[in-house]
This record gives sequence, C-alpha cells and structure tokens, in this order.
Amino acid sequence: MNLIILGLPGAGKGTESDFIVKKYGLIHLSTGDIFRSNIKNGNALGIKAKEYMDAGQYVPDEITNKLVAARLQQLDIKTTDFILDGYPRTIDQAFYLDKTLLTINKPILVLYLAINEQTVVDRLSSRRVCLQCGRVYNLKFSPPKINNKCDIDNQTLIQRSDDKAATIKTRLQVYKKETLPLVTYYQNQGLLKTIDANLENDKVRATIEQYLLENDNG
Ligand code: ADP
Repeated sequence: MNLIILGLPGAGKGTESDFIVKKYGLIHLSTGDIFRSNIKNGNALGIKAKEYMDAGQYVPDEITNKLVAARLQQLDIKTTDFILDGYPRTIDQAFYLDKTLLTINKPILVLYLAINEQTVVDRLSSRRVCLQCGRVYNLKFSPPKINNKCDIDNQTLIQRSDDKAATIKTRLQVYKKETLPLVTYYQNQGLLKTIDANLENDKVRATIEQYLLENDNG
C-alpha cells in the first residue's frame, strides 16, 4: 500500500499522515518537512527553498522532483511502502512521479482531503509548531496544556512563516491553479478516494481506515 495524500494547505495532510504512518508502518515522505529540515541546516537547498516558501510559492519542480526521486530510489523504499505528503503538487510533478514509480514498480492510491477554504484559513492562522519535536498544535482546536509551550518538551511554540495571513492567501491561490487539477488527474485514473476533511478528526480517521481496509491487498 503506497499512498499520496492530497488537499489544501491546512486540510490535515501532515496530521493524518502521522496517524497512517504509526498505524500501518509506512515511510512518511513530506516535501514540506524535507524543505524545512534543509532550511534548519542552512544549506543551499534550504536557502533556495525558503525564498519560495516564505512567499507562498512552490519550490521549482526540477528541485522538488529530483529530491523526491532520490528518496524513492533509496534501497529501503524499494522494500517498504510509503506515503507522499505534499507531493505531487503540480501536473508536471505528477507526470514525473508516474515515471519514477514505474522504475521501482510501485502502484499508488490517492487520499484526497476535501475541505472548505474558510476552514483552512481559520486552521492555518491559529496553527503553531514546536521546532524541537515537530508537534503541531492549533490554538483554537487543539491548544497546548500550557500557553504557547509544547506539551512534550516545553519549548516555545512558533508560527510557521508561511502561516502568516498574507502568505496564506497566496498559498491558496497557488494551490487552486497548480494542485487542484491533480484531483481530476487521479480521479480519471480511478485512483482517488475523497474524504470529507471538514469533519472531526476521529471521523476523518475512521473514513481513512475503512478505505485502506478495503484496498489493502496484503
Ligand atoms: P502545506 O500543505 O500546509 O502548504 P507543506 O509543509 O506541505 O504545507 O509545504 C510548505 C511549503 O513547502 C509549500 O507552500 C511550498 O512552498 C513548499 N513545497 C512543499 N511541497 C512542495 C512541492 N511538492 N512542490 C513545490 N513546493 C513544495
């Protein structure tokens, strides 16, 4: 079982991927996380990616595609299943992925987290993260126990620079132009399962589990 998780920024791709990874033992490949860890290291890729991310734009396809292909071609990926979170995000990335998957002989299923735009604006503007352990909170919907401190390691929570109001608007526009066409692309191939991501977390999860149960061939 190899998955792609697709949806607006803030739809819950990262949260649901973490759940799926723990439950089914898949490798989690999040391009956003990979870029953020390169930014933290301060290397050339990170410096380049940060320019685009802070502006709410996508990192260019040639950078992103090579990065993902390199990970997918690593030996453990050949024997282990994965979930792609935040990739592909453009039609060109989807074509590139199709080619890459052919070379390693991996079929995929696509989970599409469908959600209202206003809900994601609300979620993103109150999202906070712990830079130490990566845990994600929401000040309105899942706040930390102590104001602005991580429950796990007591670090001060921060707002991702791309979660600022002006950047959120651009990200939504870019998503609609570049990423939304992927829904039709995968639907036409019969690979897409739409999940109502406006619902509470446990309902979203139950739908995902049901779907994976139906599609797990072993
Ligand atoms: P979200 O889904 O909430 O936007 P991510 O952590 O997945 O958050 O991505 C954050 C940012 O990283 C994106 O806005 C974009 O700039 C960059 N990024 C992540 N994945 C890709 C990708 N596949 N192609 C281009 N840029 C990407």
